[in-house]
Amino acid sequence: MKRLTCIFFILFCFLMGNSFAYPASGGMDAPALEDAAEESGAEPAVPPDNARAEVRGGEGHAEALLEETAFDGQDWKLMLINKQHPIPEEYSFTLGTIKADGGNMKCDERIIKELNAMMEEAGKDGINLAICSPYRDLARQESLFNRKIKAYMQGGMTYMDAYKISSQAVTVPGASEHQAGLALDIISDTYTVLEEGFADTPAGRWLEENCARYGFILRYPEGKELITGIEFEPWHFRYVGREAAEIIMEEEICLEEFWEKYL
Ligand SMILES: [Zn+2]
Repeated sequence: MKRLTCIFFILFCFLMGNSFAYPASGGMDAPALEDAAEESGAEPAVPPDNARAEVRGGEGHAEALLEETAFDGQDWKLMLINKQHPIPEEYSFTLGTIKADGGNMKCDERIIKELNAMMEEAGKDGINLAICSPYRDLARQESLFNRKIKAYMQGGMTYMDAYKISSQAVTVPGASEHQAGLALDIISDTYTVLEEGFADTPAGRWLEENCARYGFILRYPEGKELITGIEFEPWHFRYVGREAAEIIMEEEICLEEFWEKYL
C-alpha cells in the first residue's frame, strides 16, 4: 500500500513538474533568438539541485535499478544539454580516440570502453555499426548551423523562420551533446544516411534494443519532439551510464523527462 501511494505521488509530481517545465511546446514555439541569447549567459546547464533522489517506481528491470540507485544531478553522465540548458562554459573533459573507423574520431574518453564494447557486440550479431559523427567543437557546430540557416534563406525564408527550423534539425551551437563529447551519430554499412528510415533497419533496431546495456540512450525519440525540441533522430546516441540508460529506454522517456522524474 505504501508503495502504491509512493507511485501515485511520483506520477503526480511528474505530471505537475512537466506542466511547469514544458509549457505547451517545450520551447519549440519560444522565440528561437531568445534561446540563442540564453546560451551566452552564465546560466548553469545543470540546475543547482544536489538532492539525491531515492525513488521507487517503474517496472521490471528499471524498478530493480531504482531501488539501488540514487541519481546525482552533478553527475557528468547525466548532464542535461538542450536549448534551455547549454553546456556550462567551465565544463571540461578529456578527449579520447575511438579506435574504430580509422582512429581519427574522438569523444569523451570515459565513454570509449563501452562504445567499443557495443560496436563489437553488434558485430558479433552481424551488424556493422559505423560512427559518422563523434565529438564536434563549437566552431564546427556553428558552421553546420549557419549552413542550414543559409540554405533555408536561399529558399526564400526569413532569418527568424530559417533559425527556428534549423534549430529543430541541427542543434543550436552550445547546446549540442556532440560538443560535450557524449553523443555519437551511429549508422551502419548498409544504411549510410542520417534519415528516419534507419530506425527500421536491423542496425537501428539492434541499437534501440541494446544501447542501454552499454549506457547509451536514443536521445531524440519519436513522439518526444515537443519536449526535446529536436526531431526524431534514430541515429543519435547519448551516453548517460547504464543505470539511467536502462530506465530511460525501458520507460520510453527522454532525458528531459528523466530529469523531471528522478533528479
Ligand atoms: Zn547527433
